[in-house]
Amino acid sequence: MKQRKPLARSMVPIPKKRLKPRRKPFPDAKDKREPVVVRVLEDGREIVNMLTAAGREIYRSRKRKAWEAQGGLCAICGRYVSWEECEADHIRPRSLRRDDRQDNIQAVHHLCNAAKGSQQNYSPKGMEG
Ligand SMILES: [Zn+2]
Repeated sequence: MKQRKPLARSMVPIPKKRLKPRRKPFPDAKDKREPVVVRVLEDGREIVNMLTAAGREIYRSRKRKAWEAQGGLCAICGRYVSWEECEADHIRPRSLRRDDRQDNIQAVHHLCNAAKGSQQNYSPKGMEG
């Protein structure tokens, strides 16, 4: 195999510094075989580890609980949404400060969720009353 000549030091591209350091959501997970499933932060927020089957199950059960509490109605448009087509939406948008606690999860239509995006106080047009 041909060895590539290393670039002169002045030619090596300088990596752009990340503005924000990547946050590790599960820094307390020490053992790969036993990952943290739900991380509880100091301010009480919970972050469910979706990389684990147990985490996905907790998330699913919270979505289910929300859907049942809402009587099968989408929390955004108020129309019926079946369990199969409903999605879990974060009331306080995930993009601000992620919080997977039960009280922050509501069941919504996929399209309603997409329209809401990351707006905090979203009300769909023409849906009032
Ligand atoms: Zn809807």
